[in-house]
Amino acid sequence: MPRHRHSKKEIEEALTYAEAQGWRIDLASGHAWGRLYCPYNDSDCRCGEFCIVSVWSTPKNSANHARQLRRVVDNCTGGISSEEEET
Ligand SMILES: [Zn+2]
Repeated sequence: MPRHRHSKKEIEEALTYAEAQGWRIDLASGHAWGRLYCPYNDSDCRCGEFCIVSVWSTPKNSANHARQLRRVVDNCTGGISSEEEET
C-alpha cells in the first residue's frame, strides 16, 4: 500500500530516505504531518530524539526540516556501529 506522500518534495525525499533505513512512518492529524519511528527503539539507541521524530506538514523552511530529519536518521546508532559521541 503506497504511503501518503508529503507535499513538500524535500521532506518527501527525507521520508523515503528514512524508510530505506527501516524507519516507520505514522501519520498524524493536526499540527504534525506524522511521526518517524526509529526501528531500534531501545535504550542503546542514541538518536537523541527518543527515536521518535515529528514531521511537520508546513515547516517554515522545508529544506531545513528535511535536513534535520535526515540528521536524526543518520545519528541513530541502531544497527550501525559508530564511535561514542556522548559527553
Ligand atoms: Zn534510533
